[in-house]
Amino acid sequence: MKKSIYYSLLISAMISVSVAEETRQVDKHEHGVGVLNIATEGNSINFEFMIPGADIVGFEYEAKSDSDIALVNAALTKFEQTDNIFIIPSPSNCALVDSKIKIDQGEEHDDHDEHDDHDEHDDHDEHDEEAHNEFVAHYSFNCGNVKEIDRIDFTYFNTFPNSGELEVQFVSGVGSTSFEVEGDKPFIDLKGKI
Ligand SMILES: [Zn+2]
Repeated sequence: MKKSIYYSLLISAMISVSVAEETRQVDKHEHGVGVLNIATEGNSINFEFMIPGADIVGFEYEAKSDSDIALVNAALTKFEQTDNIFIIPSPSNCALVDSKIKIDQGEEHDDHDEHDDHDEHDDHDEHDEEAHNEFVAHYSFNCGNVKEIDRIDFTYFNTFPNSGELEVQFVSGVGSTSFEVEGDKPFIDLKGKI
């Protein structure tokens, strides 16, 4: 009997360790800072956004109420239309060929006062950090002429009023450049960078 209790404790300890490792990246982000990686390869250009839920819908716990679920679904729908997020100059003739949009949910620990059902969380007492999540969006385009992309405009800042800055890392055959983009100057200048 004692032996089986020992094994089940061991197993649950192993499970918590693996969950913590998976979510460490999300839990490390900074609210108000979205990350965007852009890379060109041949005539294709790929975008990878990783944006704290706080910047998109204003919260990061897992949506459970109807109104929170509606907010998250509306945000995901906006991400599906790339011109809600960014604009590529039309002379480059880029066409979206693939996209993936999801939410990476971090480990959830409610330490908010409005939750009074703490008894449910007895086995999480050692954690008091808040939940974090991120909206993750990947877009791939094939372009008629990728070199015609001389700037990218970010409609993102208007689409999501909670948004902060975007830290952009841009990589092409020419080299790599980083940009910090904010809503008052919502574009990056890529002349000579592709
Ligand atoms: Zn967060």
